[in-house]
This record gives sequence, C-alpha cells and structure tokens, in this order.
Amino acid sequence: MERRVALITGGARGIGKAIAEKFAKNGYDLVLNYVSDNTNLEEIQNEFKEYNVEVLLEKADVSNFEQCENMVKAAIEKFGRIDTLVNNAGVTRDNLLMRMKEEDFDKVISINLKGTFNMTKLVTPYMMKKREGRIVSISSVVGVVGNAGQSNYAASKAGIIGFTKSVAKELASRNILANCVAPGFIATDMTSVLSDKVKENINAQIPLKRMGTAEEIANAVYFLGGEENTYITGQTLNIDGGMI
Ligand code: NAP
Repeated sequence: MERRVALITGGARGIGKAIAEKFAKNGYDLVLNYVSDNTNLEEIQNEFKEYNVEVLLEKADVSNFEQCENMVKAAIEKFGRIDTLVNNAGVTRDNLLMRMKEEDFDKVISINLKGTFNMTKLVTPYMMKKREGRIVSISSVVGVVGNAGQSNYAASKAGIIGFTKSVAKELASRNILANCVAPGFIATDMTSVLSDKVKENINAQIPLKRMGTAEEIANAVYFLGGEENTYITGQTLNIDGGMI
C-alpha cells in the first residue's frame, strides 16, 4: 500500500520537528523543509530511522516562490503525492511600533504569511487532482488577540487565519480541508530567548501555569491534518493552556 506523505515547512527543529515525528509515528513519509545552513541532515535522517518511513530533506526559503516551487517538484518526483501540508516555518522580529524597522515588518510578513501563500498555492494543484488534501497552518494566539511589541508577527498570524478561512471555502469542493492551530507560549528555541523573569510572568498568566510543549501542538496538528479529519475545515484551534 502506498504511504501518505506530509510536507512540513521548518520541519527540522522545534514545533515542526515534533509535528514530523507525530506524522512519522502514524506511518507518513515526510518532506522536511529547512533553511539554515547549519542543519545537520545526517543527524535528522538518523533520528527518523526508528519510524521506518522515508524522509526527504529539502532546503528552501519559504518566502521565495521559486525555491518553494523546486521543493514541491522534488517532493512530487520522489513520492508522487502530498497528502498533508503543514505551514509551520515562522520567525519573530519583535519591537514596539515606534521602533520597528520597515525591513523587520517585511521579513516577518514575507516568511510567515507569504510563505504560507507560496506553499499552499504550489501544493494544492496536486491535492486537487487527487480530490483530497489537508492543510494545517501554524498561527498564534498573538494573531487572535494581538500583543504589544509584536504588531508585525500578529499581522502575519492573523493574516494566516483569514487566508485559511478563504482557501477552506475555495477548496472544499475538491475535498481539501484547511485549518489553523493557534499556539500560546510553547517551549522551543523561539521562546528560549526570553529571560526567566519574563517566562515566570508568562506562566502566571496561563491558567495551566506552564508553557506548552511542541508535542502538544503536534497532536492537534495531526488531529486536523491526518486522514481521520474529514469534516473540520476553516477553523482555528487555540492550544494555549486556557490563555484566551
Ligand atoms: P523555532 O524553534 O524558532 O523554529 C523556526 C522554524 O522555522 C525552523 O524550523 C526554521 O528553519 C523555520 N524557518 C524560519 N525561517 C524560514 C524560512 N525563511 N524558510 C523556511 N523555514 C524557515 O520556532 P517554533 O517555536 O518551532 O515555531 C514554529 C511555528 O510555530 C512558527 O510559525 C511560530 O510562529 C509558531 N508559534 C510558536 C510559538 C512558540 O511559543 N514557540 C507560539 C505560537 C506560534 P531552520 O531550522 O532551517 O532555521
């Protein structure tokens, strides 16, 4: 039997890697995208050996349409299909509006939001042909409620929600389901830069009194992006320990 395939942007570390592991545990072959030059490809291949699935590692900057196009072509050449797309790659460039540089606004929008557009546009023709597909994009609670110092990031993450609701409507007739998850504070490299004091303050504001784990996000992404989801589309699931 042919195995299903999940393509995960930013899948070599953090939340993306936990998502990749969840899909691998469920028998999916993987296309893992990364952008950093210091990514240890051999180590990642070795880590996934225990799941007995095939892993294609593809370098591409998701904000660059041509690089995304080459990545999707390579995925189709190797596997012939993409069943699930997870738009996970994302960055922050935080600052108060008064101090935010134009390039920091553009950077965050082009990776987080345009990257989601690039990948969704490029993958959906293959899903349309199969008349089946699932897309899960990683938004953020910040995109739902806003956050001082993150206007660029909030705009990108709110944009992902609006984009997802729209493509869910466009693609429903082809049985392609598109949803978002909106994580709260999750313990990864992205939040490890925060001081202990800031982390303490954050934990105090979370009803469950702790940051979430990448695995807790991965479980929800698999719920929405795995084959058992056949009737949820256009939704945003908040995974935030009760924050909002
Ligand atoms: P992270 O540890 O900082 O990892 C960021 C990921 O994005 C890495 O895999 C990185 O690839 C990839 N990436 C960055 N720029 C890219 C580009 N131009 N093209 C392709 N890939 C790129 O972040 P994380 O915490 O795992 O976050 C994953 C997603 O969850 C992001 O969308 C983030 O906004 C969202 N999120 C995180 C939190 C949180 O508290 N951590 C909360 C809400 C939402 P490389 O490994 O190659 O650098």
